[in-house]
Amino acid sequence: MSNQKQQETPPITFVAAGDTELEREAILEEVLPSPGFPAVAQLVVDAIEKRSEVTVLDFTPQQVNIRFQIDNVWHTMPTMDRETGDFMLATLKRMAGVDYRNRRAHQEGSFRAEYLRVKHSCQIISQGVRTGERIALYIELPKSKVETLSELGMPKSLQEKLAPVLGSDDGMILCCGVPNEGYTSVWRGMLTACDRFLRDFYVIEEESRSEPEVINVTSVLFNEKAGETAFTPMPRLMLKQPNVIAFAEADQAQIINQMIELSEKEIFVPVRIPGKHAADAVARLILCKPDVKELAKQLRAVLCMRTIRRLCTDCRQPFTPHPTLLAKLGLPAGSVRQMYKAFEYEPGMLDENEREIDPCPNCHGIGYVGLTGIFEVLTVGDRFRQAMIQTPHVDHLLAAARTESHLSVRETGVVAVAQGITSLEELQRVLKK
Ligand SMILES: [Zn+2]
Repeated sequence: MSNQKQQETPPITFVAAGDTELEREAILEEVLPSPGFPAVAQLVVDAIEKRSEVTVLDFTPQQVNIRFQIDNVWHTMPTMDRETGDFMLATLKRMAGVDYRNRRAHQEGSFRAEYLRVKHSCQIISQGVRTGERIALYIELPKSKVETLSELGMPKSLQEKLAPVLGSDDGMILCCGVPNEGYTSVWRGMLTACDRFLRDFYVIEEESRSEPEVINVTSVLFNEKAGETAFTPMPRLMLKQPNVIAFAEADQAQIINQMIELSEKEIFVPVRIPGKHAADAVARLILCKPDVKELAKQLRAVLCMRTIRRLCTDCRQPFTPHPTLLAKLGLPAGSVRQMYKAFEYEPGMLDENEREIDPCPNCHGIGYVGLTGIFEVLTVGDRFRQAMIQTPHVDHLLAAARTESHLSVRETGVVAVAQGITSLEELQRVLKK
């Protein structure tokens, strides 16, 4: 390896695939002098610094297109010429222990990387496609420990609104969100907020879809493939005289009716279902055709969380919102003096002195760093209950909630925009989905 190349390579170390130390070292020795090695090192460092959990490389006859997924959003990166790309891919595959000559078959492999004293396990999946070859590189990134509703970003006022519901002796609460976007986090956050230490608390989960346990909540599994349902474990569970039985999913009328019945027997029943906002979740549940009258009677509240990217506080751009914008957002004139936009960095950008701008060292030019939640806590009142029974369409449910001075997820999102936590563009992106 020439000294030249060593200087170009960022300070990252790798542990290649292999069953023995000898094997792993042999592979590394083989790839180190390769012209593809600095490119791999640069790619992995870029992905780690920008916090890309999934990196997709598309090899076309002319070039390599690179995309990073950061905080659930795809970003297109500068393309790479095909020659560099081919050397890089051969090195990447060799390190992951898969056949680098085979560019058609589906192959999976893994290696490890250490950068700035943090270890990352990296997995690659390669597959030949019509236009060439596609590679997905998954890099495990350190996750900040987010367990409680406060840590997820729920304001105190909403926590106080939710607390009496979570302390109920009976009835139901729905917990909703969009799968893969904080769906598990809000469910865990809600269970964590319940007084798990004072009550006997169980979560019913399908075996193959079970999630990491919450402290002081016993997970009870059933096996769908073996013909079991969420109520198969119930006779045994009832002997333990539970106070709270939570269900991680609900999609069949018969099962939902059993949950409703359970919530009439001095058992509090949290249920999780997908939904873009509270009214959407209730409309979806009603579409499963349960006994709506009983459901309306037993449903105490709906909690919804959507995830939104946080603006980078180092490079966000302040602006004075026009009064018409504030009016459109439902904010009183003069209530917000400053809002923020993300700084949209592009390589080669010049400042007022015609000097090239470096990307922001905090967000690496993305404009956002990490995610936070925007929440909705709908406590079910008479008008909402009536709408559930008579006109269970999303629009009617939304209108009924509004008459009960309920703040929707859009409205709590606008508060986050007014506080400079996120941007209007980001809120619109999240709500459009
Ligand atoms: Zn920044």
